[in-house]
Amino acid sequence: MYGSGLIKGLSITLKEFFTKKVTVEYPDEIYPLPDRFHGRFTFDKDACISCGMCVRSCPNRVITLETETVAKKKRILKYEMDIKYCMFCGMCVEACPKGALGYAKDFELCQYKWGKLPMVFVEEQPLPPEERARLEEAAKKEAEAKKAALEAAKAKAAAAKDSSGKEG
Ligand code: SF4
Ligand code: SF4
Repeated sequence: MYGSGLIKGLSITLKEFFTKKVTVEYPDEIYPLPDRFHGRFTFDKDACISCGMCVRSCPNRVITLETETVAKKKRILKYEMDIKYCMFCGMCVEACPKGALGYAKDFELCQYKWGKLPMVFVEEQPLPPEERARLEEAAKKEAEAKKAALEAAKAKAAAAKDSSGKEG
């Protein structure tokens, strides 16, 4: 029949007016994202032990981790993710033994300037020599005090053992 195609097309259009919408008017409304959505990274500096597993697991070498060691403890100087090379595969998050890396749901990561793309989580200067010396001295004294306390406890235990042996 002449015009049947047109009628069919218009009926489909008309039907779509009454079907449930699957799109939202972004950015006024944001579609609910699943719990496992890979958006902006989160980094918990206090949980991080600077093990470097995330750096080694990244296939695209996105992560830069720089540390300094003070009094046998690592201190993070720089933790940066250059996300223009990131494919959001999640291998770094999976590799982290301390759960220091994660995702937020924010996906609006575009920047007007190229140089602003990297996510800089930590950027600190190395400690000045006098502060480093002070911390190392304090750690040394703490270790000596612990050693002395341990030796005193051992001596006390040995003395107690001796006296109980004599009594028996
Ligand atoms: S998500 Fe993948 S590509 Fe991106 S930083 Fe982590 S390991 Fe690298
Ligand atoms: S894997 Fe986790 S704990 Fe290790 S350096 Fe990376 S963020 Fe820190």
